[in-house]
Amino acid sequence: MSIVTTSETSHEIRGMNLIAAHSHITGLGLDADNVEPLPQGQGMVGQLRARKAAGIILRMIKENKIAGRAALIAGPPSTGKTAIAMGMSQSLGSDVPFTSISGSELYSLDISKTEALTQAFRRSIGVRIKEETEIVEGEVVEIQIDRSISGGTKQGKLTIKTTDMETVYELGAKMIEGLSKEKVVAGDVISIDKASGRVIKLGRSYSRSRDYDAMGADTKFVQCPEGELQKRKEVVHTVSLHEIDVINSRSQGFLALFSGDVGEIRSEVRTQINTKIGEWREEGKAEIVPGVLFIDEVHMLDIECFSFINRALEDELAPIVIMATNRGISKTRGTNYKSAHGLPVDLLDRIIIISTESYNSEEIKAILTIRAQEEEVELHADALAILTKIGEEASLRYAANLVATANLIASKRRSNVVEVEDVKRSYSLFLDVKRSVQYLGDENDELIA
Ligand code: ATP
Repeated sequence: MSIVTTSETSHEIRGMNLIAAHSHITGLGLDADNVEPLPQGQGMVGQLRARKAAGIILRMIKENKIAGRAALIAGPPSTGKTAIAMGMSQSLGSDVPFTSISGSELYSLDISKTEALTQAFRRSIGVRIKEETEIVEGEVVEIQIDRSISGGTKQGKLTIKTTDMETVYELGAKMIEGLSKEKVVAGDVISIDKASGRVIKLGRSYSRSRDYDAMGADTKFVQCPEGELQKRKEVVHTVSLHEIDVINSRSQGFLALFSGDVGEIRSEVRTQINTKIGEWREEGKAEIVPGVLFIDEVHMLDIECFSFINRALEDELAPIVIMATNRGISKTRGTNYKSAHGLPVDLLDRIIIISTESYNSEEIKAILTIRAQEEEVELHADALAILTKIGEEASLRYAANLVATANLIASKRRSNVVEVEDVKRSYSLFLDVKRSVQYLGDENDELIA
């Protein structure tokens, strides 16, 4: 079977809202050594212990010491569990996949829960594929040439950009203007004048002492490598296992990557792909990049999903799973047993737990200030004080949402600054959960049960 991969990156449409709410977060906000959390940094505020713990997990991920393990971020609502997971993903680098799903999402899809989980797992595993391709005329690639001058008195490396390694001259032509037209081949000694960019062929019997000094320090001397010169170059691109699955699944085709409508993928396709990737790894053509799978509202999963996760974590191709929950002791769905965070004991046994704590008013204020900056909203100091109070009493997320709605109300009255009045109007128009529940209680008879 020939496996097709693609260097195109597919755009994740799902989870857009999730990203917008956390767009101010660009990392975990750790110090220069990536150890201690700064009080405020990379959009992150407070939650120091949890951020430090997340930083340690991050280090383990980078050192490849955690594949197949899982972490649980547990804490009250709006205490930054998702924000911390986002911060971790931001610090991992662009070719490490990060997938985010919510426990409840699995029940609304038209594929089975375990298929949805399989896809989420495979989305979170990157395959860094090395491919050899022909150098296309006109393309610039980098080569290194040993620099040995006059009987090896000076050895060094010089990097030249070239279109073709066979003729250094042609290479140089793409990079340096004003070259001489002389052809240079392997074994020749050439010099490149840095100021003018001229390439001068000195021939094989060139003597350093005579010519080097005469040409000045700005001149680079190059001994073109001997032997077979290659016309091929190596390119590396990273795709996720899921992307490879979709592209190779006859019923879907790669357009499904863009619509997100992938459907079920046959297990034989996955088995063949795993085998092929195993071969590529042995041949040194591919490397596995374990990414991060974030599962929010993990207590919404049932026992079937948990046993799937338990098994999947043992697989050789496993990502790092980070789960989040705001539940304490609760029933595991699909069973009559209660346990910590609603997770079965065998899964609890193998995870690291990070806990988040409620914010104080200073921290809420700082987060709201960052959110306002991110949304380009100017808050009057009194409006910020009221929003902070709302954040403390209702929830941080509710207060953050009021920033945008209050700004709309302010712009309606042609003001660039959000005042207390705008926050008040917004607060009366949009209910927080507590008031909404109260309203539901009062009007219960009128509402459809
Ligand atoms: P839930 O349990 O309800 O899912 P959560 O713990 O995942 O909540 P988040 O969604 O991360 O909470 O936080 C709510 C909002 O506050 C988000 O916009 C998030 O980016 C922001 N936020 C939370 N904590 C921090 C923090 N420490 N620094 C900066 N922003 C934060």
